[in-house]
Amino acid sequence: MENNPLIGPFFYLNRKLIFNAVPLSEGREQADKLDNSYGHDRLWDENHLPGDYIYSPRGRVIWDRTNSRAIIYIDRCINRPNVIKKIADTFRLTDYEVRHDDHYRCRKCTGDIFDD
Ligand SMILES: [Zn+2]
Repeated sequence: MENNPLIGPFFYLNRKLIFNAVPLSEGREQADKLDNSYGHDRLWDENHLPGDYIYSPRGRVIWDRTNSRAIIYIDRCINRPNVIKKIADTFRLTDYEVRHDDHYRCRKCTGDIFDD
């Protein structure tokens, strides 16, 4: 893996990415994916952030071993080109896809009315 992509959870707060990143060699295997087992609750606590993390926009980078590329799961409210670029740069991703998932929705988004 020449560019050594990283995986892990992140928050995007006040235009800053708060994250925990590990190389694929430290990933936990789940089916054909590699995931960083570090949780959002721990990431929140270890950065001494106030309140409850469920209100904050977040996501997670995992690795798809079948397709040899990253998947960026991200909250809809921060799925913007500049944020994606910051994530790709931070986690050294050259090839990735972006997805939404119910796990990564802040309280503001879950309070919205969705048609889907
Ligand atoms: Zn949100």
